[in-house]
Order: sequence, then C-alpha cells, then structure tokens
Amino acid sequence: MEIEKHGKGSTVNISVVGTGYVGLVTGTCFAEFGLHVTCIDKESSKIKKLKKGEMPIYEPGLEELVRKNMREGRLEFTTDLSEAIHGALVVFIAVGTPSKKDGTADLSYVDEVARQIAHNMDGYKVVVTKSTVPVGTGERIRKIIEKEQKAPCNFDIVSNPEFLREGSAVNDFMRPDRVVIGANSDQAVAIMKDLYKPLYLIETPIVITNVETSEMIKYASNAFLATKVSFINEIADLCELTGADVHQVAKGMGLDGRIGPKFLHPGPGYGGSCFPKDTRAITHIAREHDHVMEIIEAVIKVNEDRKKKMAVKIIKHMGGDVAGTTIGFLGLAFKPNTDDMRESPSLTIIEVLQKQGAKIRAYDPAAMEEAAKVLKDVEYFSDPYDVAEGCDALVLITEWPQFRNLDLDELKRRLKAPVVVDLRNIYETARMKEKGIRYTSIGRPS
Ligand code: NAD
Repeated sequence: MEIEKHGKGSTVNISVVGTGYVGLVTGTCFAEFGLHVTCIDKESSKIKKLKKGEMPIYEPGLEELVRKNMREGRLEFTTDLSEAIHGALVVFIAVGTPSKKDGTADLSYVDEVARQIAHNMDGYKVVVTKSTVPVGTGERIRKIIEKEQKAPCNFDIVSNPEFLREGSAVNDFMRPDRVVIGANSDQAVAIMKDLYKPLYLIETPIVITNVETSEMIKYASNAFLATKVSFINEIADLCELTGADVHQVAKGMGLDGRIGPKFLHPGPGYGGSCFPKDTRAITHIAREHDHVMEIIEAVIKVNEDRKKKMAVKIIKHMGGDVAGTTIGFLGLAFKPNTDDMRESPSLTIIEVLQKQGAKIRAYDPAAMEEAAKVLKDVEYFSDPYDVAEGCDALVLITEWPQFRNLDLDELKRRLKAPVVVDLRNIYETARMKEKGIRYTSIGRPS
C-alpha cells in the first residue's frame, strides 16, 4: 500500500494518542516526514499550549519543528479523540505505562485508549503501540477492541517500540539505529513501512517481526543498557578501592568491538522514565511465567543501592556529618538536555542528605520547575555561582554542558568550604587539586 504524502489535504492521516515526550516527538517527526498528523492528549492545558506553539516539555529542537509543521498544515493538536480517530488510518498509542506499586507496568492508560479507539472506529485501522508495553499487550488490545467495538470493523495491531533518548529525541527519531515493527499482517507491515519510508532512504535497518518479539525487543534493550550502566558503576567502585581509573578501564574495554564504548560512563545510577520502570516490569513479566531474571534483578538492586551510596559518599567527603550544613547541587534532572525528573538519582540523594540535617540549594538549566513538584525544601537559583554561595560543599550531579567550564576560582570564592563532589567526572582531579579544591569523583584515584 502506497501512502500519499503532501501538506494540507493529504489523503492519509495518522493520530498519536498521548502527547508526552514520545507522542509529541513521534507526531512531530512524522509530520516532518510529510504525513498529516493529529496529536491527542487528555490534558487540555498541554494541548492549549501546543496550539500556541509552546512546548509542555523541554526537548532541544522540538519547538522549531512543531511550529514549522503546524505552519505548513501537517500537525494539529486536539483533546477530541473521537474526531482524531475517525480521520486516521494509523493510530499510535503513546500514553504512559508507569510502574504500579508492585513494579508491574500500569496498563490502565493503554486500556483506556484501546476502548476509546474501539468506540470510534469507522473503518480499517492500524493500531500501533509506541508505548513500552509488556509482552502480550498487543493481544490484550486486540481483545479490548473486539469486545468494545460498536460494529465489527477490521483492524490490525502493530508493536512499534520507541528507542529515542530524551535530550536528543528529535535526532534519534529522525536517524534511529533501527526501526522495529511487530505485526501479524502483511497489510499492516506495508503501511508501517510506508510511514517510515524516509528512513529507508537513509538505509535505516528495519526489523520486521511478530508483535510479541517486538514488545520483548524494547524491554530487552532497556534492560541490557541498564545492565551496562550498573556494571560500570560496580567496576568504578572497585577502581576506587584499588587505585585504577575507571575512565581508562572503560576506554580499554570499549575498544573491544564485542563490548562497545557506549553506556560505560560511571555515575550516580540510572534514572529517568524508562530504565527503572522497564527493568522492574521485565522481571515481573518473568516472574508471572515462573522465571527469575537474576541478572536484571541484581541490576535493579545495584542501582537502588547506588543512589544511597552516593549520598554516603557525599557525607563522607564532607567529614562524616552533614547536620546543619548547606549543600549546593548543580543539576537535578536524570540527564542533561531534559527537564524530566522521573526517578532522577538526585531525588534519593537529596532526600537522604535532608534527613541527615543538610539544607539544599540547587540550579538546573531546565528541570527546576519539575523538581519543585517533587522535592521539598530546596532553594532554587538561576546561576551555579549563586548556588555555591556559602555552601559547605558543591555536588555536580547532571553533566549539563554549561557545567563543564565553570570558573573554579569564582566557585571557590563563593563556597564556604572548597569541597566538590563530582558524580559525573566532569573535572580532572589534578586541576581541582591545583585550585586547592577538596575534590572527589567516581572511580578515579583522588
Ligand atoms: P508522558 O507521561 O510524558 O506522556 C504520556 C501522555 O499521555 C501524557 O501527556 C498524558 O496526559 C497522555 N494520556 C494518558 N492517557 C491518555 C488518554 N486516554 N488520552 C489521551 N492522552 C492520554 O510519557 P512518555 O515519557 O512520553 O512515555 C510514553 C511511553 O513511551 C511509555 O510507555 C514509555 O515507557 C515509552 N517510552 C518513553 C521514552 C522516553 O524517553 N520518555 C522513550 C521510549 C519509550
């Protein structure tokens, strides 16, 4: 099936339900590919903002692309799901699948959208899960739609997991390492391939498989990446005990083509909206099948312990007692170039320090608004030097580019004590020593 693509008046429409990090990037990038896209969200404040060309999230390059595609008539936003479903051949589900208390994926948002799709079906549709969903969800959606349809309508279910990274989401969507399409129908595969045609032109590998395998590829990928992070963090701890330098170890390991250099950066533990919840979810999927994912369960434990260990590291570096001290944080988000605070290691670390009696001051270039929703009693500043003013120690926790070249003399002047804990190894130990700063980092001889 060949899909016609042009601006206004395109014969093929796609809809993306859920306009968060994934839905908004997916919808915008498909519009940039030349398709007519309607993005739907139930949060009217989000849609109101988007209609004015304002972004509800911080994501580099996204605003320009949204505005351009709105201007050119290929991208629309609405809260009216029924209208958006009626006109669409392909409906992407991109709503959240957060962890429930027991660690399993909460599919209530996905189920709700499946019901709404069923109620509004007016012809053949391809229903695609972009959300990360447990193996078997495709089948679950099929059953919901079959049960809830007012009149029988043909449809196909496709799994098309998303691998974008927050902070470089637009580029990741436009130039992915691969596209995975899980489907049990040739027609649905043909339609999906056509949506991604611009990526064919840049020779992006497309993996065509069944729905269950596609769903598993996403969880297995995230679990593997999380494993790499926890692995190098454990190696970093051993480096600290033995005098080895974790950066050189990572470089020496990464040059081995079987290992690869990526995701071998030690730090305060992984966070964000995906790795923590997806590792938990995959271990639960396994346990539901009476199977134990021993490596991934260990990865989760290593990561949880790591965040507390980082708080202990800070306390130790400050002399063992932080009661009555003031600690400055540079960065709060789980990584640079995002305002996403979901499961950021800073949350646990700050909470432990506050419980021990420390006052916290902080600056993050994008995440302070989000941080203020989840952190209590933190004083925010709009400049790293103002954060440092009068602090007993400064903690670098997110490697924003603007933290890489700070004026160390000015920082030292502003700090009450020249103490720096660098949880991202942004600075060189020798240089900090030269400046008279009592400095510690991760997995490097101090
Ligand atoms: P998000 O929380 O940022 O966005 C989800 C959006 O869905 C929200 O705006 C919410 O209001 C909306 N929504 C919920 N129910 C709705 C309904 N019934 N109708 C309309 N809108 C509804 O989530 P996200 O970070 O974009 O993640 C979405 C999915 O993509 C998750 O499964 C996640 O695991 C997966 N994923 C996320 C990333 C990432 O980096 N954030 C990367 C790859 C995959």
